[in-house]
Amino acid sequence: MRVVVIGGGVVGAASAWSLALRGIDVTLVEQFGLGHRNGASHGSSRIFRIAYDDHTYTELAVHAGRLWCELDSVSGEEPVLRCTGAVDHGPAAVTASRARSVERTGRPFELIDRREAEKRWSGMRFDQTVLYHRDAGRLHADRAVASIISRARERGADVQHHRPVRAIHDAGAALEIVTDVGVVRADRLVIAAGAWTEQVVDMVPESDRATIDLPELRTSQEQPAHFAPTATDHDWPSFVHHPGADLDESHHAGGIYGLASEDGIKIGEHATGPEVTPAGRSFTPDPAGEQRLREYARQWLPGVEPDSAQSLTCLYTCTPDHDFVIDRGGRVTVAAGFSGHGFKFAPAVGEYVADLTLGESTLPVSGLARLFGFGSRVR
Ligand SMILES: Cc1cc2nc3c(=O)[nH]c(=O)nc-3n(C[C@H](O)[C@H](O)[C@H](O)COP(=O)(O)OP(=O)(O)OC[C@H]3O[C@@H](n4cnc5c(N)ncnc54)[C@H](O)[C@@H]3O)c2cc1C
Repeated sequence: MRVVVIGGGVVGAASAWSLALRGIDVTLVEQFGLGHRNGASHGSSRIFRIAYDDHTYTELAVHAGRLWCELDSVSGEEPVLRCTGAVDHGPAAVTASRARSVERTGRPFELIDRREAEKRWSGMRFDQTVLYHRDAGRLHADRAVASIISRARERGADVQHHRPVRAIHDAGAALEIVTDVGVVRADRLVIAAGAWTEQVVDMVPESDRATIDLPELRTSQEQPAHFAPTATDHDWPSFVHHPGADLDESHHAGGIYGLASEDGIKIGEHATGPEVTPAGRSFTPDPAGEQRLREYARQWLPGVEPDSAQSLTCLYTCTPDHDFVIDRGGRVTVAAGFSGHGFKFAPAVGEYVADLTLGESTLPVSGLARLFGFGSRVR
């Protein structure tokens, strides 16, 4: 069987890797170059954490963590996953429910008094309740995608950059994927096209497209910023500061996430950016958004220089409830809507996409059909 994957972000790369590991003849086509800045998977950092309200996400993250470690153990390169632990802080109900989810996995966690937390992580101030879990940290996004692509190639995947897909034809037994450079034939197709998903799905022949259950996808331009740390000896866990307790919700209604990276301490708001199209976006950060992050840093992060903010932009593509959509219609599997939290799950999602595409079932996580809500079924 020959499978073509459209999209060389983290989800398409991980899908191609998983298919290649199973000995499938797989070709990945990506419109831009490796490490490009036009989608969602670039940059130096993403949070890896397992503390989720929904236990299926927690289980999926635990499985993904194993796969990130496997990737690092076979790569022989500098690890892409660095375990620094992670902190959730905010209202008691939020930290308690996440603690219960981590507890169900048997992984360690601590509920810590905020003053104790401030002694431990002196670059941060903490809200009313604090949950710490150790099996968490950060991923180097650019190196992670590059490593997955290298591992996929080692297993025989044909990865082609600078190959925009322009059309998809029904050629009877096969699909023909038309790129600027040539035509690739496929028995099965995976679309992992991020913010371009609807555009690519529209190219799919009607007989396959009719049964793809794609919800409305909203794409926004988000803008985290890097801040210079004031000292080199602060320890930085990855963190999520949840609204509902002492956080000023008139400014930060959706909460704040943050983590250390080689570019500084990155902090960001969740899904507050303007709706855009990938072709029409500005790449220019909104000054008001940057100002809100500076104010947050001034109030909550004594370990950074608040006026040192360097903003960057990145695309979120979200379903209405921010759960992912992974669905198959006929010969075509679509994986999209990974929102602001999809990176960490990518190797597990890649396995699931490969399962769905091949009609197999290997993932040791139950409840995914519910989690991926709109589809996740083979028709
Ligand atoms: C600011 C920000 C912070 C985030 N923080 C975190 C975090 O801390 N932790 C976490 O787990 N997740 C985080 N995420 C989410 C995560 O990064 C994304 O969910 C993930 O990268 C989505 O990957 P993707 O492969 O679906 O999309 P993309 O990376 O956008 O990949 C889609 C690819 O498809 C290609 N493509 C599209 N159309 C075509 C075509 N016609 N022909 C060929 N190729 C095509 C595109 O060029 C693109 O490379 C964050 C996201 C952002 C934006």
